[in-house]
Amino acid sequence: MTGGWTLHAPCSGRDGFTPSDDDWTNGGDLKRLCGPQLPTCGPCPFHAECIATVKPAQAKFDGIAGGRLWCNGEVIDALEDVFEDELAEPKLRASCGTEAGAKDHTRHGERVCPSCRQGAREMAQRRNVEKAKEPKQLQLDFATT
Ligand code: SF4
Ligand SMILES: [Zn+2]
Repeated sequence: MTGGWTLHAPCSGRDGFTPSDDDWTNGGDLKRLCGPQLPTCGPCPFHAECIATVKPAQAKFDGIAGGRLWCNGEVIDALEDVFEDELAEPKLRASCGTEAGAKDHTRHGERVCPSCRQGAREMAQRRNVEKAKEPKQLQLDFATT
């Protein structure tokens, strides 16, 4: 990246944030090549600006932007303390309102919309209720005396 705030970013003048096309074929390669640079984004105050500039999802970006590692425009790794509001606005999709919709937002590197958040929460609650109904397995003690 060049100019303006990018000159003040911790990655300014550093290499290794995007791989050469010849060097990788899958997400594992990207993690090996670019993953070591991810902590550089930790103290950077420009996560949101970085994502808004790179537009990783639309650009099908491969490499590091905004404290995340992207592969073909999808987040495959991230720093632990990144915030969802640094991501792009969610797009409305046919899957909105469901857990699958929440995954679609995440896959596209954007915030989860409120109805998908609610849908995912309800699905998780339903699973917990079903799990609580399952008979508990007996713990047999085979210890010999
Ligand atoms: S978030 Fe990371 S890649 Fe983006 S400007 Fe900051 S240090 Fe550079
Ligand atoms: Zn949604």
